[in-house]
Amino acid sequence: MDGKHRARFDEKMKNEQFSKYTLTSADDYRYVVNVLSGDGDRNNRNVKFDLVEVAGMKKVIKTRKTQQKTPRYIVTQNELFDVLLEAHVNTGHGGEKKTKTILQDKYANISGKMI
Ligand SMILES: [Zn+2]
Repeated sequence: MDGKHRARFDEKMKNEQFSKYTLTSADDYRYVVNVLSGDGDRNNRNVKFDLVEVAGMKKVIKTRKTQQKTPRYIVTQNELFDVLLEAHVNTGHGGEKKTKTILQDKYANISGKMI
């Protein structure tokens, strides 16, 4: 882990207001997982979220209109730093734009401001 990155991130998160994309807390996320795991009407076309299992863990995804596209995950507050850092490192410590492209294809609730 990169301590300098982490400190800068924590500082930024304290000062930023994310209006459009509210990050889901771990508790909210668990609630959504429970609801989606139940017997709710899964054929309701208004349901925008679904569950997938990744390495034995239930993950919430935002469904896409076209099924061919890969689903986009919902990231929680406590996951955000690792997700951003991973994307940044995966681009070879690439810039904001490169990192953003990767992230927004994979996650449904990451805004440009967070990066
Ligand atoms: Zn870097």
